[in-house]
Amino acid sequence: MSLKTFLVDLRIEAQKGKLPIVTDFLAHSLEQTLAKGEMSLLLLNRRGHARTLLCTACGMAHQCARCVVSMTVHKKRDQYSLLCHYCGKEEDIPQACVSCKAEQFKSTGFGIQQAEEELRHRFPTAKILRIDADTTKGKHAFTDLHKELHDGSVDIIIGTQMLAKGMDNPRITLVGVLDADIGLSIPDFRAEERTFQLLMQVLGRAGRTGVEGRVVIQTWMPESPSISCAATQDMEGFYAYLLEQRKTYAYPPFADLIKCTVLAKTESDAAMHAENLQKSFMETRGTLGHDVEAFVAPAYIPRQHGVFVYHVLLKGKGARSVLESTKIPTSVRVDVEPLQLL
Ligand SMILES: [Zn+2]
Ligand SMILES: [Zn+2]
Repeated sequence: MSLKTFLVDLRIEAQKGKLPIVTDFLAHSLEQTLAKGEMSLLLLNRRGHARTLLCTACGMAHQCARCVVSMTVHKKRDQYSLLCHYCGKEEDIPQACVSCKAEQFKSTGFGIQQAEEELRHRFPTAKILRIDADTTKGKHAFTDLHKELHDGSVDIIIGTQMLAKGMDNPRITLVGVLDADIGLSIPDFRAEERTFQLLMQVLGRAGRTGVEGRVVIQTWMPESPSISCAATQDMEGFYAYLLEQRKTYAYPPFADLIKCTVLAKTESDAAMHAENLQKSFMETRGTLGHDVEAFVAPAYIPRQHGVFVYHVLLKGKGARSVLESTKIPTSVRVDVEPLQLL
């Protein structure tokens, strides 16, 4: 597979004024692909609606210093603040970026419909196909899409991560990633790993025919290993970095991570049950003398199906033995090595 990869630094683009969803560089690549009668695939790397605080000068999403996951923006009595969903720490919205001291922030995220609109406006004669959870709903939707895809008339496909897998069309010679690092802002310690894997999958969609494929990645953090290693297809380099991170911040496979989910009808009850569980864990730790920490925080989605959800996170080398030696109420759900912490 022969691939040429280009990174577009959105921090530089943002200095030019109003930031379009499709930058000039990507638009130019789309024009060239259209002119050759080939197909382009645009990906919106979107999962959930994490509202994080992004510094438009250095591209940093504001993180919890202890947990190295993004903090999310919350509104409480007309006041905005930041919350870490791992350890429960709350912070005021900072005046300036902790990383580069600039004072320019934006909330991340735009929708796929917005991106499609901009595209139609920019390329009025191109045939554009949107593929996401909405357009694939309904009995015939998928067969219809499939037909359209293979009759050779589509110029640009735009879609969510559903596209990354199984979109093998020899006409695709350009892949554009609109917001490569949006996944990095999701408060999950596997965010970087998932971002890297998704990018690697989507890169493979271009240049499957022996023709040279091109990949344009729009990113706020071109130096982030998940982006830079994906761009150079450096698996080894990325996994070496990842292991180092996990070791430094005591995440699996170097420490146990256990998520206990507590549900209650009121928020104060959920918080109280979670804090009681945290106390029990700390007492066990006292007797066993293990290297373990326990944190209480409201879940990323704090209210699910009318009940309030709190998490108690048990983290450290002795987390499993502390769990085994603690009496846990039957209503608490325990996930050892949870696939996600949301
Ligand atoms: Zn900054
Ligand atoms: Zn934290």
